[in-house]
Amino acid sequence: MNVIMSTLNAKYIHTNLAIRYIKAYAAPEFSIEMAEYTIKDPAMNIVTDLYRRNPDVIGFSCYIWNIEETIQVMKMLKKINPDLILFAGGPEITYDVKEWLERVPEIDFIIIGEGEAAVKNLLFEIQGSKQYENLDGIAFVKEDGTFVMKPQREKLNLNEIPSPYRFPEDIPHLGKRIAYIETSRGCPFSCQFCLSSIEVGVRYFDRERIKDDIRYLMQHGARVIKFVDRTFNISRSYAMDMFQFLIDEHIPGTVFQFEITADIMRPEVIDFLNKQAPPGLFRFEIGVQSTNDRTNELVMRRQNFEKLTRTVTMVKDGQKIDQHLDLIAGLPEEDYHSFKKTFNDVFAMRPEELQLGFLKMLRGTGLRLRAKDHNYVYMNHAPYEILGNNVLPFDDIIRIKQVEDVLEKYWNAHRMDYTLEYLVTEVFETPFDLFQDFGSHWDEQGWARIGHQLEDLFKRLYQFLEEKNVPQLPVIKDLMKVDYLRNHKYKPRKPWWDERIDKQNLTSYYQAIAEQPALLGEDFAALGLSDKDLHKHTIIESISFDFTHFIQHGEIVENASVVLVYFNPKTLQCELYGARKDAFSHLPSVS
Ligand code: SF4
Repeated sequence: MNVIMSTLNAKYIHTNLAIRYIKAYAAPEFSIEMAEYTIKDPAMNIVTDLYRRNPDVIGFSCYIWNIEETIQVMKMLKKINPDLILFAGGPEITYDVKEWLERVPEIDFIIIGEGEAAVKNLLFEIQGSKQYENLDGIAFVKEDGTFVMKPQREKLNLNEIPSPYRFPEDIPHLGKRIAYIETSRGCPFSCQFCLSSIEVGVRYFDRERIKDDIRYLMQHGARVIKFVDRTFNISRSYAMDMFQFLIDEHIPGTVFQFEITADIMRPEVIDFLNKQAPPGLFRFEIGVQSTNDRTNELVMRRQNFEKLTRTVTMVKDGQKIDQHLDLIAGLPEEDYHSFKKTFNDVFAMRPEELQLGFLKMLRGTGLRLRAKDHNYVYMNHAPYEILGNNVLPFDDIIRIKQVEDVLEKYWNAHRMDYTLEYLVTEVFETPFDLFQDFGSHWDEQGWARIGHQLEDLFKRLYQFLEEKNVPQLPVIKDLMKVDYLRNHKYKPRKPWWDERIDKQNLTSYYQAIAEQPALLGEDFAALGLSDKDLHKHTIIESISFDFTHFIQHGEIVENASVVLVYFNPKTLQCELYGARKDAFSHLPSVS
């Protein structure tokens, strides 16, 4: 029997762990072939490829990001070969199974819950006596039209599941994709918008076995390894042991990403990480969702924001671990103003990335079941994003989307860190106000519909600030120049601003710097740049504030400076050096 496990990933770099678990568990009795595509692949190409593999049975792993595309593929396959047996599983299809079987009659079986044992047992029945009613973790419609649903009876012992990480066919792709690792299943918390709240209890895989799998993945080229555990740090001893192992045995250049619950993280653990972890080895994803207590109560989310802030701040101060914080707009009783507060509370911690998500009413979750309590309206189809509720009309959702758009392009992309910091502290009343005003302007200008290059991002922000008549515009423009230049690996051909140092002054500066490089500090002098290097790999700009003071103290003090940016051709990094203009005042030609 020829069996394929397939899925449509959101992007090529993603990999699907579920089909690998099922393949590993089904062996040695069944030799399952894996076929992964992306949601961008045309359905015709996917169907052609699957058809050519000549399958008897195909299983699809379904999620909110792929369900609609997967349905198209299943319908086409069944038309071509009505005898082909199709089954589907995964979080998107595990709930409301009757509805799914009615909507997509091409699906022969739905796998409910964990798939490993259920799929293997199903394959035995397909190959053997076809007594499907004896199976657990499955739903289907009998020939006489009767609907049968048998939930999973017992959770699997995770240590009986063979490793899904070691298939030879994965090795060529390991360095190019994200490798996912699972050390536990389940989450002890009950957040009512989240699928993980439904399963009771947390089960762990054997630690030493997981360590061996991680060693294997690293040895075979994996460089981005993401832990899919819902809350990696529930057990402090487990997390500490794993952190220590990764610090001790990682191959340089590897990055490990974790979803952590910040308010339960002990300061000793962060102290340890701040001291022991190499910079860039770990990255934390932290769901904050909302700082509104009433909202958190309504979704049964226990969260101590003070402790969360302590953790995020300590990690940030340690400068070793990048943090990605998530918010959800649209939770119960979180209106526009309350969301603005949530945003500002979280932005105050200056996370490296802040992601605004919009509530999705996932099948099976408590919030979806009680949607009427808060007058939720949401999309009928995946991803079931909300379109409004009793306190957040669609107009406000549009406004928050405008914030999200520019937040992604500017803050999360780190293209203007100096400028944004100045804008959110010195110019706008709150960070949210900056992103809202600018986001609305962006939308009104129709920029959301056209592409942009780095220059455009600078020009558009500048245009917006100019139209707003922001009094600090000259300083902001200088900060934008510095941000623009430090975003380059190579000397840019033509910067986006017009006013430049005139030729004569520029020659004088270069002459002075060549003769006396220490004018720009000892570090610059130590570079020993030749005349040729200076002209080929540097740019000189004049700005209105004391650059050195700004870099050291983050403070703007009016005092004209000269900034030299060196685009180091060896490291492909740019380095910035500055001096006050009066250091050059002895030059007769400098005005
Ligand atoms: S949101 Fe996070 S903490 Fe809450 S139930 Fe889901 S996985 Fe657990």
